[in-house]
Amino acid sequence: MPVKVQDFKTAVHNNWCPGCGDFGILNSVQMALAEMNLEPHQVAVFSGIGCSGKTPHYINAYGVHTLHGRVLPFAIGGKLANPELTVVAVGGDGDGMGIGGGHFVNAGRRNVDMTYILHNNGVYGLTKGQASPTLKLGVQTKSLPMPNINEGINPLFLSLAAGYTFIARGYAYDIKHLVGLIKQAINHRGASFVEVLQPCPTYNDINTKDWYGGEDRKDATGRAAPRVYKVDEKSYNPDIKPGMSAEEVNGKLANFVSKAMEWGDRIPIGIFMKNETTSSYDERILERIPFYMQVPPAKRLIADEANRSSADLTPLFNELKVR
Ligand code: SF4
Repeated sequence: MPVKVQDFKTAVHNNWCPGCGDFGILNSVQMALAEMNLEPHQVAVFSGIGCSGKTPHYINAYGVHTLHGRVLPFAIGGKLANPELTVVAVGGDGDGMGIGGGHFVNAGRRNVDMTYILHNNGVYGLTKGQASPTLKLGVQTKSLPMPNINEGINPLFLSLAAGYTFIARGYAYDIKHLVGLIKQAINHRGASFVEVLQPCPTYNDINTKDWYGGEDRKDATGRAAPRVYKVDEKSYNPDIKPGMSAEEVNGKLANFVSKAMEWGDRIPIGIFMKNETTSSYDERILERIPFYMQVPPAKRLIADEANRSSADLTPLFNELKVR
């Protein structure tokens, strides 16, 4: 029987604010998983702390609601323990770019086969709207007494520098497009990063749905001029493939930089880079431990048929014993 979106829903009451962009991301993840015909038991969703941290509660799959900023180490551990799982990590911009910034960088360079979705709304929504690391310099959302004194991080640039091999940006209110991005991110073998522009109607009254949609700059005929636009797949090719010359790769990186810098009047969404020239962590580990995939930690016996532990820890305890 084909998997349905409904298979990934739970009965847990959702207490996100009405109109929150998190709903669009949640639905997109559920739709992507169903369209990929994955069964709930084949999927593990990890989250950090923040409004988006509640996501695993609302998805019928294995779920782990972890600590502030620590979602990526948990997700990597889950994937390494059971490589057969499809691992999706979600977190907010405060969680992932602030306290979790070091983990974000190190997850990129490991290139573990998993997908990280960043809910980027520019504020710490769960704690009443303080400026997050992605809020732009000089922006004053309604919960700030003064304009933001710091420059904002660009998550796309940071992900490129860290080594993520699939980099994309979506928009929480363009679900069809976001579903496509998430499916491609999951299908990519390596660390995939999807930034999602996620309006927080409660605390960010600047980067709102109307702002992204250009409702504030309607023309004489009453038509809005949306800021968010899709990268033209015909003129922008994000693929970096084996055999490309250094010149070609440099050209791709230059295109990436110019696209990722756009903000304000024009905000691109789509796939920014897909790099197939870097080995994934599972390929590297197989070179050292060829049987890893047959007996990863999740498949190793920890007890015999009589339920006695099959691991003898006596030598370890003897070693640690205080004499
Ligand atoms: Fe969404 Fe903002 Fe409400 Fe959090 S505070 S649930 S991010 S609208």
